[in-house]
Amino acid sequence: MRREHHARLPRMCFAPARKPSACLPSALAAVWIAGMLVVLAAVPAGAGSDAFRKETKRTVRAHEKARAHVDRLRAENAGATEVRSAERRRKAIRAGLWDALWSVARDAGDPVAVDPSGRAGRCPAARARARSRAPEGRDAVWTAPIHRYRLSAGYAARGSRWAHRHTGQDFAVPSGTPVYAVGPGTVRATTCGDGFGNQVIVRHPDGYFTQYAHLSRIDVRKGGRVAAGQRLGLAGATGNTTGPHLHFEVRITPYMGSAVSPLPWLRRKSVQVGG
Ligand SMILES: [Zn+2]
Repeated sequence: MRREHHARLPRMCFAPARKPSACLPSALAAVWIAGMLVVLAAVPAGAGSDAFRKETKRTVRAHEKARAHVDRLRAENAGATEVRSAERRRKAIRAGLWDALWSVARDAGDPVAVDPSGRAGRCPAARARARSRAPEGRDAVWTAPIHRYRLSAGYAARGSRWAHRHTGQDFAVPSGTPVYAVGPGTVRATTCGDGFGNQVIVRHPDGYFTQYAHLSRIDVRKGGRVAAGQRLGLAGATGNTTGPHLHFEVRITPYMGSAVSPLPWLRRKSVQVGG
């Protein structure tokens, strides 16, 4: 039943709006979104629950379709009202996902939810503060998170190291390699002590979050603004890892479970990352 709804998604104006007559009225689309979010809230939210993970994935996909629709409307110079209503729809999907993932993260003791500034601001790797300065005049130019690297595990890779699929892109680099903010934003969290080791999460102006994990040192503090290309810290091998690398993730919310494929996301910012 729910799958059928998903299959009907393109008719609900998530698809290119070239044939407005083929689109369901946006009120109906809103009902569909509300229904999906009720399902997401109702399924058992245990971190290991397959049903929850499935609904989460479906919601992430719906968000990405809604976002692509907004991008398309903007590219086609659609009317302001149409863009606003599409953007409202995207934000409604994200808000439902955010609430569901936040409560799971909090119950699981995820430091991003319970202690985003890192052991009350005292992660060992973040002791020396404010070592990083914004590069001048580069704010608008997005960049790769690492300059010299070898790509290792990709997004959605399977492997014995992950309970399910890999949620980010790994960059194999020696410990101590500088790690940069891919774009301008605000530091949402600097945490330590869980499987991601020392990590930084940055919120960007378009509402997406980027995560930089397994760092040996953190050079920024929670709440600080960063520019594109500003050093966030140094790569390392902290947390659950078999060797030094950067784990880079792009998320719709600050929490695990809302990751999207990071390399296509970077390509949309004109950043080419190759193997
Ligand atoms: Zn990884």
